[in-house]
Amino acid sequence: MSEGLTAADPKARWLEGPADDATLAELVETDVDLVALPLHGARADVHEWVAERAGADDESFSATLRTLDATRGLGLTRAVWTLLTRSNARVLAEMPSLLKAHRIALWILEVPEPTSTPWTQLVPRFGLSIPSALAAMERARKLGIEARIRGAPRCVLGRFSDRALPSPTRSFASVCGGCPARAHCPGVAPTYLERFGPRELRPSPALSPPPSALFSRLNPDPEGST
Ligand code: SF4
Repeated sequence: MSEGLTAADPKARWLEGPADDATLAELVETDVDLVALPLHGARADVHEWVAERAGADDESFSATLRTLDATRGLGLTRAVWTLLTRSNARVLAEMPSLLKAHRIALWILEVPEPTSTPWTQLVPRFGLSIPSALAAMERARKLGIEARIRGAPRCVLGRFSDRALPSPTRSFASVCGGCPARAHCPGVAPTYLERFGPRELRPSPALSPPPSALFSRLNPDPEGST
């Protein structure tokens, strides 16, 4: 979804980077009251390294913080989305206090779909990244921030699978056949399976995570999600 594109709700916007003055003015003119912005780390080097590889037009950490401040000043509810990579997975614990300071209502951790280099090399093994992601999400929740994750197979979330958000369906391994959770599981990217294999996957109980009212309004995948 490209920057500024109207999401499921015309008063909600999923942004791909910091907003310039014209974009901020347009948000006001169109009565937008909810925006989601990318922020991949609590420090400039962490955020900008990921944003650059994600192809952001403006990877500036300071510009992103300025947008968070400006949209707060406009009275908008703000969500932040963070790509989970080998680079930032170990420092996600730094995020919740920054999110709290900026009064972020919803934190969306995204497991990217690695379809090409460099992402095939940047996506970490679930066993290394998901525990730190879940720990950071718990810290955020204790600070009053709704913290959810997208794109992760239900089985690697364990008892936290109710924290999942809808995301586009990827691929499934042979172990997924007959898995009770499959109807609400995005599966795994083929490139992940090629690289790491299916050993981390195991059939799990069926569970339909509770919807997120804010995320439902943003809906960055209008063509359908699992
Ligand atoms: S085993 Fe089940 S929960 Fe795990 S990836 Fe396959 S379908 Fe999803």
